[in-house]
Amino acid sequence: MIDKLNRELEEKVEEKTKELKHQSETLDHLAHYDSLTGLPNRLLFLDRLKQAIKHAKRRNKNVTILFLDLDRFKEVNDTFGHEIGDKLLKEVAIRLLHCVRDEDTIARLGGDEFTIILEDVGQNEVIRIAKNIIKAMQEPVYIRNQELYTTFSVGISSYPEDGNTSSILIRNADTAMYKAKENGKNNYEFYNSKMTEVAFERLMMESGLRRAIDENEFVTYFQPKIDAIDSKVIGSEALVRWQHPLLGLVPPMKFLSLAEDIGLIKYIDEWMMMNTMKIMKKLQDEGIYTGIVSLNVSMKHLEDKQFMQYFRETIANIGFDTSFLELEITESQIMKNPVSAIETLKNIRLMGIRISIDDFGTGYSSLSYLKRLPINNLKIDREFIVDAYKDEEDASIVRAIIALAKSLNLSYIAEGVETKEQLDFLLEEGCHNIQGYYYSKPLPESAFKEFLLKN
Ligand code: C2E
Ligand code: CA
Ligand code: CA
Repeated sequence: MIDKLNRELEEKVEEKTKELKHQSETLDHLAHYDSLTGLPNRLLFLDRLKQAIKHAKRRNKNVTILFLDLDRFKEVNDTFGHEIGDKLLKEVAIRLLHCVRDEDTIARLGGDEFTIILEDVGQNEVIRIAKNIIKAMQEPVYIRNQELYTTFSVGISSYPEDGNTSSILIRNADTAMYKAKENGKNNYEFYNSKMTEVAFERLMMESGLRRAIDENEFVTYFQPKIDAIDSKVIGSEALVRWQHPLLGLVPPMKFLSLAEDIGLIKYIDEWMMMNTMKIMKKLQDEGIYTGIVSLNVSMKHLEDKQFMQYFRETIANIGFDTSFLELEITESQIMKNPVSAIETLKNIRLMGIRISIDDFGTGYSSLSYLKRLPINNLKIDREFIVDAYKDEEDASIVRAIIALAKSLNLSYIAEGVETKEQLDFLLEEGCHNIQGYYYSKPLPESAFKEFLLKN
């Protein structure tokens, strides 16, 4: 009797133990594997990388990691939704598994980031694998009748050359991956120490820019626009400068694309329009003729409700007469989506503001849209102005733009005019609205005021 009870009890215990073991295995799996792709997750990846480095140290071998990031994955998610995005990641994981050996670890770090650990592999083999990964993405992925294309940017770092801890190796592979993105995506890059310098500079610029917005380190410069027939000022273009506490005056080319990347350009443009209108209003109140002032804005901001609200409020607060205001928008931005641009720009025109197409001639305008766009002015790009007086091809482009402006009843201006030859050519062709170093460089407020008083 006791024997039987004992046996039953033992069986129960055994059963429970099995159950617990199974449960703990499931939990273990959940903790170490990514539920979407079934690949090792960050935790397990770190664990394996540390192990691999330890082994390599003992045996004098190397470890290489590949840091992979899908290009434009966010676009897929935004366009097709997360469900399709998830399916794409699953398919990508399967393709990656075909690119490596069984003993290599592929992990999903999260989002669209994957890593691969290769132990004791020579550089040629690493290159072969990286190329295979790029190639594996060339075929489209079909999801619900959608044909999706995606590519990888890959950064590569190795123990011991590029670092001797897991965190340094990961950081350096990540840096190399960014370099691959910068170089046009869909390729791979090996880490080198120069990249860290560049990344550091970028980081300094980035934190500097954030501070610049809080601390108000921007200034507005004005470049006069002149009617060459009587040399009178007809207006000016407001151009942003960054007064950096250590670097001095930084031109927009050095910081605008970074500001764009990190989403700060909107604040810079908001500040510019506020500050420009304030200065102009002051000059007008002093009885100085300023003409029309032009601001550079991106199409994206004009389609942004918050930006437009800030714009309207600023005009009202300053009490600025909008008939003295013009917006310069680049041709390529307008032509990206001309149908929606027509609507957006109509509303700007209703506010009494002029619209000028900047860098005209570089953006492949569709003539039928050009006719329907509510614009006032074409700004002929400097690229054509430079050599037009001696280069027949450039000359005929300038002539064509002038003819186009005339037939559409638009005003037109040449930018980047530096020399007498360039000016004479333009006057001969009937273009007398001129902006450029020939008359003046962009000037800070005080010098601009002097310029206005003299002219
Ligand atoms: P952009 O709108 O085409 O402005 C004209 C650029 O040409 C200015 O450069 C101006 O200083 C320069 N320039 C004017 N005359 C001459 C000349 O005779 N010769 C030469 N070589 N250059 C001349 P800047 O001020 O460095 O601005 C560069 C670009 O940065 C601008 O090109 C514009 O796209 C952008 N930008 C400037 N300020 C702002 C701003 O407040 N907001 C935005 N979103 N972009 C801005
Ligand atoms: Ca401009
Ligand atoms: Ca321009």
